[in-house]
Amino acid sequence: MSNQVTVIMYHFVRELPYTRFPAIKGLLVSQFKNQLDYLSKYYQFVTINDCLEGIYHNRSLPKNSALLTFDDAYIDHYTEVFPILDERNIQGVFFPPAKAIEEKKVLGVNKIHFLLASMDINCLIQELYLCIDKYRDQFSLNTNEYYYNKLACESRYDTKEVIFVKRLLQNELDEQARNLIIGELFAKHVSADEVAFSRELYMNIDQLRCMVRNGMYIGSHGYDHYWLDKLPREKQESEIDLSLKFLTKIGVNIDEWIMCYPYGSYNDSLIDILKEKNCKIAFTTRVDIAMLNRSNALSLERLDTNDFPKESNISPNIWTRKVI
Ligand SMILES: [Zn+2]
Repeated sequence: MSNQVTVIMYHFVRELPYTRFPAIKGLLVSQFKNQLDYLSKYYQFVTINDCLEGIYHNRSLPKNSALLTFDDAYIDHYTEVFPILDERNIQGVFFPPAKAIEEKKVLGVNKIHFLLASMDINCLIQELYLCIDKYRDQFSLNTNEYYYNKLACESRYDTKEVIFVKRLLQNELDEQARNLIIGELFAKHVSADEVAFSRELYMNIDQLRCMVRNGMYIGSHGYDHYWLDKLPREKQESEIDLSLKFLTKIGVNIDEWIMCYPYGSYNDSLIDILKEKNCKIAFTTRVDIAMLNRSNALSLERLDTNDFPKESNISPNIWTRKVI
């Protein structure tokens, strides 16, 4: 018995070849089922309540505990993931971006995903350069070469060109400039009807309520899906308050609640706010097996679905060997 838990993060889980955007990066439903078969062989699935007991009531968990988390409330989490988890009696933990659902918007980060899935990367970069040229004076933007040299470098999963686009549009340009540019490119190359696209992309409030009623756990993912460490304290607080209001609306008891930091980003002032408002567990995107205890309950590590096999008959991999 122990206090460690392998928390696994999922985003898109869909039959990509049969969708309008087959180039979106995600897990096929068949791969998801295979991965659950693999995990079932070596792990014991636990619930949020088990984790709370482990942290706050000294209850030991099995050494090979696993918890499944799903970010951004994509519709596939309702149509594909929920029935599979329900059938196998596994609790999933879901983190909806409240504003996107309440106001029928598409998150900037998702607009970027769908742009990348709709266009050749070099064409996209050329279009971005034209946008930067257009807005350079208005927003005091740097040269195209400056941004490329600063931001383009390969990551665990992406080429340097893709990382350049993501970093430029998620973070580097100021909010107003990047929203203008992302909005223009999304309308031109993906969809001019953001409301309809949002309805197609995310779960709605009734679907979230249905999942809560059926034993799934829904936590806060902020309101506007901001990098929360970049906001002043008052804005952090309003992000959390709005997200809690949303959770109440879908039937979540917020006497004690769970957070997942968008992009894994947080800082000390945010942690103070979470403590004041009785948040009991918060997940980051730091890559490791999480150790449950009071001192790190608000900064728990997670692994990614890509860290595990997508076929069932595979011998235990490096992460699994650490816990069995
Ligand atoms: Zn997210």
